[in-house]
Amino acid sequence: MAPVIMKFGGTSVADAAAIRQVSSIVRRAHDSYGSVVVVVSAMAKVTDGLLAACAAARDGHSHPVDELVASIETRHRAVVQELFGDDAAAITDVWTLVSHYLHDVRSVLSSVLILRELTPRGTDRVAAAGELMSSRLIAAFLSREGIGSRWVDPRAALLTDSRSPALPLMRETQAAATGEIGPVLSAGEIAVTGGFVGATGEGITTTLGRGGSDFSAAVLGAALTAREIQIWTDVDGMLTADPRIVRAAHVVPQLSFDEASELAYFGAKVLHPSTILPAVERSIPVRILNTRRPDVPGTLILPQAANPGRKLTAIACKRDITVVDVTSSRMLLAHGFLRRVFEVFERQETSVDVVTTSEVSVSVTVDDDRRIDAIARELSDFATVRIETGMAIVCAVGDQLRTDPLTAGQVLGTLEQFPLRMVSQAASRRNVTVVLNDSDVPAAMSRLHEAFFSREEAML
Ligand code: ADP
Ligand code: ASP
Ligand code: MG
Repeated sequence: MAPVIMKFGGTSVADAAAIRQVSSIVRRAHDSYGSVVVVVSAMAKVTDGLLAACAAARDGHSHPVDELVASIETRHRAVVQELFGDDAAAITDVWTLVSHYLHDVRSVLSSVLILRELTPRGTDRVAAAGELMSSRLIAAFLSREGIGSRWVDPRAALLTDSRSPALPLMRETQAAATGEIGPVLSAGEIAVTGGFVGATGEGITTTLGRGGSDFSAAVLGAALTAREIQIWTDVDGMLTADPRIVRAAHVVPQLSFDEASELAYFGAKVLHPSTILPAVERSIPVRILNTRRPDVPGTLILPQAANPGRKLTAIACKRDITVVDVTSSRMLLAHGFLRRVFEVFERQETSVDVVTTSEVSVSVTVDDDRRIDAIARELSDFATVRIETGMAIVCAVGDQLRTDPLTAGQVLGTLEQFPLRMVSQAASRRNVTVVLNDSDVPAAMSRLHEAFFSREEAML
């Protein structure tokens, strides 16, 4: 029977009460679907804490390292005690499983402290502990609640390359996931595993990048040809805008895979940008649901969404990005110029998001500016370079943009009071993207939302 993949994010497993809620949702799902794989994130803020401990160890600060790990330990210990309250033997058993990873974290960090060197492999090993702990703990709790379940080590089920962040190897993962998870499902039990974490073929622990548990869920869903991938989180679904920026944002009931990909890529944090791809390959529906309000229908993401005539589907923004303007110093020798520009970004392993060009210049945006100095240096060999920080991308997405040429103009018209640094509409014509000052984002997002969503009927 094709399984349903249920991924619970950090806030959904943040404390004992949240984990009890997860257990009741999972029980109901198992009763109705029969075949369920649960993928959990680390408890909220645990990955942040582990990464902060790595940075402190690298800088040689042992005190904060000890404090950070101790506070992660205390939180897990308290949750175990609360969940397994009166059963001392169960507490000891679960704590043995969980504390194993804390021990591992402490040994890696102590070597980082001594060497003052933090490798990507060391970081991955420490960061992975968050999901390994939460998944162990939740698997044990579900069993205690009488829900037949078994823990699956994500390092055995999800195989990746050796980069950091790592990329899943689909063929290998298909074999590994089927081998590890298949027998659990065949036995009628729920498989519980940690998101975000995988391993190379040689067994080296890897991670999929921040927010990567969504990606894990989708990769496992594709590997097991799931019936549906459910992303359980702390909002009612994919909203028309980031609710932290636009208070009036409301749920989008249906989205196409393409719309969801573009929204995730351009900053809708509710989905990791790579989540949709594995689902697309097998046409597996993805649903976004609220753990605190499990009866709300949420958002359903399908190959093609039913479109009730809306002009835009949602808006998203990516804040605090950097714009790099590159002007050719050898005017009119255009051919080869773009290639040289993009080769620099490739060599520096920095991806660009938005690109606009004119005859002699190209402007690109980058999110990750760690290598910006080296990029500027290399580009200066053959071009004039200007770097501008404190910028943002605002992106309006909707399949309708393809067929309705006026909407793109209306989006720009709505933003007329804001200086737009770049404007782009890619070949997909599914989005209109602008780059503006980061400080203008709240006002620009609100204006767009007001124009296209609050007065939706008026605009149609
Ligand atoms: P989880 O820990 O469950 O993975 P995340 O914090 O990664 O949750 O993602 C959920 C958050 O994404 C929401 O709380 C919300 O603040 C933010 N978000 C940003 N844009 C959107 C959007 N368009 N729709 C819904 N949530 C969004
Ligand atoms: N725990 C990881 C993070 O915080 C992965 C995830 O939660 O999706 O980035
Ligand atoms: Mg997330």
